[in-house]
Parts: sequence; structure tokens; C-alpha cells
Amino acid sequence: MKLQLTLTSLSPHTTRAIAGTLGSFLDQGDVIALSGDLGAGKTTLTGGLASALGIKEHVISPTFNIMREYHSGRLPLFHIDAYRLEDGNADIGLEEFIDDGGVSVIEWPQYIFEFIPESALFINIFILNGDARRIEFNSDNARFIDLFALLKETFK
Ligand code: ADP
Ligand code: MG
Repeated sequence: MKLQLTLTSLSPHTTRAIAGTLGSFLDQGDVIALSGDLGAGKTTLTGGLASALGIKEHVISPTFNIMREYHSGRLPLFHIDAYRLEDGNADIGLEEFIDDGGVSVIEWPQYIFEFIPESALFINIFILNGDARRIEFNSDNARFIDLFALLKETFK
């Protein structure tokens, strides 16, 4: 099962709206591996996701803390930025966050690749011109079939 979808976002608002649809589908233990260059919109997307989960706090980049957690929503959100783990596959205890029944969003997942579960939703944001972004979704997890269909219908 290979799910694949490519969307174009022309504004931060649209990226947050896409994340909103995503957030309404998420469930305990879900892992989102979120890739893209600096300034692509990873944290912006995570902010939209947090809002959709009913999280009241403003999501900021966790770069210097590696991980920030938010507990005011429908599900806990663990926002991980592995950028500073560049030197390779440090065990940050991702499995514990997954078992804790939250949603884990991981920026720079390539730096902790060996800990990313196969069931993850992989999102790649590419910077086009100006505010335009190409957002690619990939997953082998059949649970996301309806999500991909709804995203396609709403944003394509
Ligand atoms: P990252 O976490 O990938 O480094 P951020 O989300 O922190 O990126 O920053 C992305 C920046 O790009 C923000 O200032 C945001 O307003 C801007 N931006 C412009 N267009 C878009 C878009 N279509 N989607 C997301 N962010 C966008
Ligand atoms: Mg960021």
C-alpha cells in the first residue's frame, strides 16, 4: 500500500488549513515525519495541526530544546526538531512518546531515521517561488486512505 499525494500551497494560511484537515484525522500514536528546507513551513504546518487538535499555546520551533510538548488539546502533541542531532541517530525516546498516546511531529526526521516507524506519515515541503510550496504526502499506512482522499478533494 503506497499512498501518495502532492498539493500546492500558495500561502501560510493554506498550509495551516491543510494541516487542519490533517489534525482532525490524527489519532494516538501517529507519527508525522516532516521534511523540508529551513523556512519551508514545517513549524507553520505544525502550528496548524496543533490548532486543529485544540491546542491553545502558540507552537514555536523546538530547535534548542529538541522537543516541546503540548497537552491542552484533544491529544498530546510532541513536536520534535532533530536538527541538532545531525551527528546521527541519537535515541531521544520517540517510542515513549508514541506509547504515551500522543501525536509526534518530527522535523528533520532524516537525523533520527532509524527510529521513525514504518507506519509514519511522511510530509515533504518544497519551496517554490515566493510563498508557493509543494507539499508531498507519502505513507504506507492504510489508515490514512480517507485522509489522502479528503486532502485531495479539498486542496487539489
Ligand atoms: P520551517 O519550520 O520549515 O523552518 P517555518 O514554518 O518556521 O519553516 O517558516 C516558514 C516561513 O515561510 C514563515 O514565515 C511563513 O509565514 C512563510 N511562508 C510563506 N509561504 C508559506 C506557505 N505557503 N506555507 C507555509 N509557510 C509559508
Ligand atoms: Mg521549524
